[in-house]
Amino acid sequence: MRKAALITGSSRGIGAACAEALSDAGWGVCINCIERADLAEALCERLREKGRDAVWFQADVADLEAVRAMAAYAARELGPISLLVNNAGIARQQQFQDIDRKTWDRIFDVNLGGCYNCIQAVLPQMLRAHAGCIVNMSSVWGRYGASCEASYSSSKHAIIGLTRSLAAELAPSGIRVNAVAPGVIDTDMVQVLGRETLHQLAREIPLGRLGTAREIAQAVVYLSEAGYVTGQVLAVDGGFPVV
Ligand code: NAD
Repeated sequence: MRKAALITGSSRGIGAACAEALSDAGWGVCINCIERADLAEALCERLREKGRDAVWFQADVADLEAVRAMAAYAARELGPISLLVNNAGIARQQQFQDIDRKTWDRIFDVNLGGCYNCIQAVLPQMLRAHAGCIVNMSSVWGRYGASCEASYSSSKHAIIGLTRSLAAELAPSGIRVNAVAPGVIDTDMVQVLGRETLHQLAREIPLGRLGTAREIAQAVVYLSEAGYVTGQVLAVDGGFPVV
């Protein structure tokens, strides 16, 4: 049977690493981007050159209609989606009193609303198959509070609540729901912190370095195969923070 996965925000960073690793593990993959379609297309081509099933689709995960169109396209091209990786996310470093409502809402619309939209769009396919796996990308800041990142941290905490609730609700339907909570991972997202802060952070991480996108992708591949694991939050964080 064809195995089909939809990975959001997968033209670069952790999402792209997930698409590659899942493709290596035998999944047909739908790559999603909101911008830089050239990167999504190039990754897709690279996978196709290796003889893999891969397609790409440009859609804002915060837009339910666009997400429904993407889920339908992915199913048409790859077969019913049995793995959804809700990876797309945005972050903002700001003191709470400076976060305007528009910024707050956008962070929730993408990070949490994106999960809602993608699960709504893909769930009917999983319920019909009485099987499926959903992996939501939370964060170390979904497990602990983050100074100057209240919006991001709240949205990532909410993703853990969604994961645990849906795991309980969907287990009888044969659908597993888990989250990954990466620590500080060396991708474009964290470059805004600057080299000095990243060096400082690396010193605070017990394993002494930032994580790689590939290491998060390995956790996602594990969860895609872990048939008796649901409702879990898998921390992949080098032991950070020490509490
Ligand atoms: P990144 O910024 O490199 O990648 C995020 C991807 O999501 C980008 O390709 C971006 O274009 C896409 N995206 C953003 N908004 C979107 C939207 N509305 N619709 C579709 N795609 C959208 O960052 P990353 O580090 O690869 O982060 C991936 C996920 O991992 C995010 O959810 C992030 O919160 C989470 N995470 C990252 C770290 C880290 O240290 N890098 C730590 C914990 C959690």
